[in-house]
Amino acid sequence: MQAYSKECSRSGLRVGCVPTMGFLHEGHTSLMHAARAKSDRVVTTLFVNPTQFGPNEDYEQYPRDFAKDSRLAEENGTDILFAPEAAEMYDGGNSTSVAVSGVTNKFEGSTRPTHFDGVSLVVSKLFNIVLPDVAVFGQKDYQQTLVIRRMVRDLNFPIEIFIAPTIRESDGLAKSSRNTYLTQPERAAAPRLHASLTKAAEAIRGGLADRAAINKIIADEMATEPLFRLDYGRAADALTLDEPDTFSPGSEIVLLAAAFIGKTRLIDNELIKL
Ligand code: AMP
Repeated sequence: MQAYSKECSRSGLRVGCVPTMGFLHEGHTSLMHAARAKSDRVVTTLFVNPTQFGPNEDYEQYPRDFAKDSRLAEENGTDILFAPEAAEMYDGGNSTSVAVSGVTNKFEGSTRPTHFDGVSLVVSKLFNIVLPDVAVFGQKDYQQTLVIRRMVRDLNFPIEIFIAPTIRESDGLAKSSRNTYLTQPERAAAPRLHASLTKAAEAIRGGLADRAAINKIIADEMATEPLFRLDYGRAADALTLDEPDTFSPGSEIVLLAAAFIGKTRLIDNELIKL
């Protein structure tokens, strides 16, 4: 993989990287197109990374379909699909950690305490293996984008990070490999997660700046769907994830939510610039 990228670099070709865990959908393929627009060669990585799953999470059950992924990757402009085995990536264990502090200590970091250490470790490894000029991530995993940006800055990775918008189903549900877990009634209820965020976003655009009142809109809207159990649904500063009592004019707000529906945990977010 490194030899390929070094050869690209010698030939003056820019390499774009799209890290994924596979079971590809239009969210992923949109990132491939974004990478293509910014580079000459697109490397999509497909790796269900064990270190970013907690002990009681869905690592074993995570959906996999290599044949379909290869086809979708190729059809959407991927030049190289880099799909290592876990034993290859973590040959003989791993003694080095990559831990980003600050932005990791709440939201996903509270419910999934080891998750971001796994993400920053595997993304560091993938960056050193793929040697990309640009890497593309989805806004769908908003907190992850802050973690990656912080890591790239702190560790001086010579890589441009580009964040692409969330691709949704027509009813607003963010596309996700995990949507495949949903039963039919759960799938029908699932758009409520995004609806609760858009409702709060509208109120913010209408002038609501009180954080507790914003959070209450999300909680109340989610409570109307009995299949959902809200993990968190809160407004925060989009850059720092700080939670001031009142948001000041000119600040960028992110609404972050995670909720369980049956055995499935879904996340979503909405960005609002005041
Ligand atoms: P995953 O395979 O879920 O780890 O996601 C791989 C990359 O695709 C991450 O950068 C995600 O943020 C991004 N992604 C996942 N779902 C979507 C979506 N619906 N829209 C845009 N990007 C997405």
